Amino acid sequence: MTTNDRYRDLPSVDALLKNEVLTALTQRAGRALVVAGCRVLLDDARQRIGAGIPLPPSLPDAVVAWVEARLAATMIPVVNATGVIVHTNLGRAPLSQAAQSAMMAVASGYSNLEFDLETGERGSRYRHVAARLAAVTGADAGLVVNNNAAALVLTLAAVAPGQEVVVSRSQLVEIGGGFRIPEILAQSGAILREVGTTNRTYLEDFVHATTEQTVAYLRVHTSNFRLQGFVHQPELAELAFAARQHGLLLIDDVGSGALLDCTRFGLAKEPMVQASVSAGADLVLFSGDKLLGGPQAGCIVGRRVWIERLRRHPLARALRVDKTTLAALDATLQAYQRGAAETEIPVWQMIATAEETLHNRVVAWRGALAGSGLATSIVRGESAVGGGALPGETLPTWLLALSVPRPNEVAQRLRQGRPAVVARVADDHLLFDPRTVLPTQESALIVALQSLASANAT
Ligand SMILES: *Cc1c(COP(=O)(O)O)cnc(C)c1O
Repeated sequence: MTTNDRYRDLPSVDALLKNEVLTALTQRAGRALVVAGCRVLLDDARQRIGAGIPLPPSLPDAVVAWVEARLAATMIPVVNATGVIVHTNLGRAPLSQAAQSAMMAVASGYSNLEFDLETGERGSRYRHVAARLAAVTGADAGLVVNNNAAALVLTLAAVAPGQEVVVSRSQLVEIGGGFRIPEILAQSGAILREVGTTNRTYLEDFVHATTEQTVAYLRVHTSNFRLQGFVHQPELAELAFAARQHGLLLIDDVGSGALLDCTRFGLAKEPMVQASVSAGADLVLFSGDKLLGGPQAGCIVGRRVWIERLRRHPLARALRVDKTTLAALDATLQAYQRGAAETEIPVWQMIATAEETLHNRVVAWRGALAGSGLATSIVRGESAVGGGALPGETLPTWLLALSVPRPNEVAQRLRQGRPAVVARVADDHLLFDPRTVLPTQESALIVALQSLASANAT
């Protein structure tokens, strides 16, 4: 056949669309996308003929693959077998059942988001979570914005424009994702007065730096690293006292938003929101999706006059959260009110899971894989809290170890499966930590592992 004949043999778009595979696809994917796919694949076929490259075995099947690749979601659920609980790259905190239901309830219809059902007049979206946020933290009032980065920008913009904020040099940190405290201060229009040294800062450093221009002291939790050795920071209560004496505000960015005491679970101390409030911080800032275990949000609690001032600032409108976030956050906080956080909120369930339970789970996984031909064993390991909280701190766990020839390639195959499975790779092993695998995902994980075995067999 000459090249010209081969060109002539290609169907027209209309002829291709009459193929029954593509009429079925049109039902599912819509005509426009299928037509676009036909054009792309016909162009590709012409180029192949020109270059003397073989055509795909079936043009209709190639169109189906092209269209399905365009329709597929890029963000999909993942089985997190890494043992990192608040895994920033894997979406931080999984939500509780109650939070999921609350989101669904407001997402699927209308709600009284900004409507007062008693008077029939316009209401405020901030009313919904504010009271509960205040109640669980012991503060006067609360406000929710898009994330903790936004909470800090809004706070500084509303409280300190053109005025000085005093910060310890050891707390001018970068949180991750390019979030740097000195740059945030500059963005918000506040003037940074850094005091002390990298390792030691005293209360007197704050006091000496206080001038007519000073409006606030800012403390930032150094979430993602630890300073050890010859170090000093003033106590929060001391800072609060000094701030009050000078008519200043004390702002405390505590980061992870722990409302439960981490030391109860064998972890190091992580600053607790309630402790900050009771030590006298005027505004306390924290994330909703780290140790709080809720949706992405930035929570601000503290004195009512200041919360009101933040709420009325124009930036608050730009940083506001949507109804589903408010619903999920409210349901998450309600679990704390009922004293049920440890049993209902996944992040805390995972932290609190007993070693014996973890051991039983990997034993069951290994049992389910017996006879699959996979070389498995059970080893001790360490889970991490993650999310830039409690660096270097781990929880003892049990791991399923899979011994395979090229572990990095196998890990990639697992990541590209559906559901995608993310495991740890160590030497010539793949490691699976039951602590972060949701019970509802266990059977899918086993199926993914079994399919590795059958792929190896062929
Ligand atoms: C994580 C963190 C932030 C940023 O919080 P996001 O909710 O991710 O925006 C800010 N400050 C501290 C101390 C943090 O740990």
